[in-house]
Amino acid sequence: MELKEKVALITGSSRGIGKAIAIELGKMGATVIGADINQEMANEIDVYVKEHGFQGQGIVMDVTNPDSITAALDVIRQKYGAPAVLINNAGITRDNLMLRMKPEQWQAVINTNLTAAYNVSQACLRDMVKARWGRIVNMASVVACIGNAGQANYSASKAGLIAFGKSLAQEVASRGITVNAIAPGFIETKMTQALTEAQRETLLQTIPMRSIGEPIDIANAVGFLVSSKASYITGVTLHVNGGMFMA
Ligand code: NAP
Repeated sequence: MELKEKVALITGSSRGIGKAIAIELGKMGATVIGADINQEMANEIDVYVKEHGFQGQGIVMDVTNPDSITAALDVIRQKYGAPAVLINNAGITRDNLMLRMKPEQWQAVINTNLTAAYNVSQACLRDMVKARWGRIVNMASVVACIGNAGQANYSASKAGLIAFGKSLAQEVASRGITVNAIAPGFIETKMTQALTEAQRETLLQTIPMRSIGEPIDIANAVGFLVSSKASYITGVTLHVNGGMFMA
């Protein structure tokens, strides 16, 4: 129960990797605040928070909208106290080859995957600094390091997120706050359901473990990074990818 009496905010956590992280942090004793983009998704979070008997709730927070972030944080602070753990997990893809990529596809991905981490981290940081303790984990991707045809926007956003975290880690290390990234390989979620069987087969050939990861593989890594076992680790990117890329 390492996170007892700590509030953990996980963005984009109605399903997939975010949901697995929220459940893992709840098991570690945290008050789980699962945020997602609309009320229907926040309700889904409420359901699993209750099912597991955790403290906390689902809340609506559009991470691209500063007003929505402020409104959600006002409620969280008032009901539970300020988040001490922040997992910037919300992310989207809008894949296209560069020659066809529309400005909206570029901008949407940069806004949701990169600018949102700035928005939410800044909104949570003052309280962490005051408390002299905090944990921020940014959800990057293996493609931040190896690139991926059709994902210039997504890979740029995730590489930006890694560099953002390294800079922030340097700024706040002396305040007891660590900032790390996780770079998942391919994980079984709605985001990867779009792969055809043929694409899946080709992909598996590039993964030495010959399997696609599960959300729990990422949640376990987050659990480690926010635990006291990782208290001297900051500014790193932990690769969780079955061996497909070895940093
Ligand atoms: P997912 O199933 O698509 O879940 C992402 C969640 O974020 C969704 O609930 C989504 O809601 C939400 N979201 C999107 N825009 C948002 C916004 N503006 N404000 C708040 N929430 C928002 O994705 P996942 O596969 O679990 O991925 C989680 C994270 O891991 C992402 O950052 C992703 O880039 C990263 N990642 C995933 C993989 C993988 O293989 N799955 C690999 C590497 C990295 P909507 O459905 O409404 O958009």
